[in-house]
Amino acid sequence: MLQVEGLTKRFGGFTAVDKVSFTVAQGEILGLLGPNGSGKSTTFNCIAGTLRPSAGSVRLAGAEIGGSTADETCRRGIGRTFQIPRPFRGLTLLENATLAAFYGAGGHIDRAEAERRARDALRLAQLPDDAAATAHGLGAAGLKKLELARALATQPKLLLADESLGGLDTGEMRQAADMLKRIRDERGITIVWVEHIMGVLLSVVDRVVVLDHGAVIFRGTPAEAQEDARVAEVYLGP
Ligand code: ADP
Ligand code: MG
Repeated sequence: MLQVEGLTKRFGGFTAVDKVSFTVAQGEILGLLGPNGSGKSTTFNCIAGTLRPSAGSVRLAGAEIGGSTADETCRRGIGRTFQIPRPFRGLTLLENATLAAFYGAGGHIDRAEAERRARDALRLAQLPDDAAATAHGLGAAGLKKLELARALATQPKLLLADESLGGLDTGEMRQAADMLKRIRDERGITIVWVEHIMGVLLSVVDRVVVLDHGAVIFRGTPAEAQEDARVAEVYLGP
């Protein structure tokens, strides 16, 4: 589904992502881990077209998409959430998701179809789909769900989820992890899930890639990640 090869992103003289390579198979959930500042969000931004890679290749189902714009990657089937949710706070949940559906379809759907996709996405994210409620009243967990609903409303083949656990309590983290698993199991959506903490992520993902200072330091199963000395060092210090 996704092949990232030698992906590099430099900001001036600083290399935030350094020759990162990994692949994600159709229907897989890959955990992309690493401490704060290790280059996870920058990697997502390069894949999703929010940033232009300095070097390397990104292939989606075999087609080169490196250097594409965010609009293009969205229409090709990449949905992504942002680490910091910025919904339209004055709009209802349904309106927020409907706008995302229009965006994902490049405007080529009518309002009824956009609302149908929006309602489906809100239900998947366990938010009310008939809501008169605006995004104003949402807490951390609600905002994360709306972020997910907006990405799902674009009907992605590949979902990039950036820090879905940020600001959540333990129970909410478990729910968020189960939700991502359900999205994969029920819809067959391939997922790359970024977190800076391992926690519940390890119970849901099929494989793990760990970044440190912009470079891949580990690839393996969740069980192998828990046994790996390098990974422990990055997370706990030497
Ligand atoms: P993560 O998501 O793993 O916490 P990021 O990808 O956000 O890390 O950031 C990786 C590194 O790149 C950090 O040192 C960060 O300060 C730097 N960085 C990110 N975006 C920019 C930018 N637009 N300009 C300069 N430096 C950036
Ligand atoms: Mg980040």
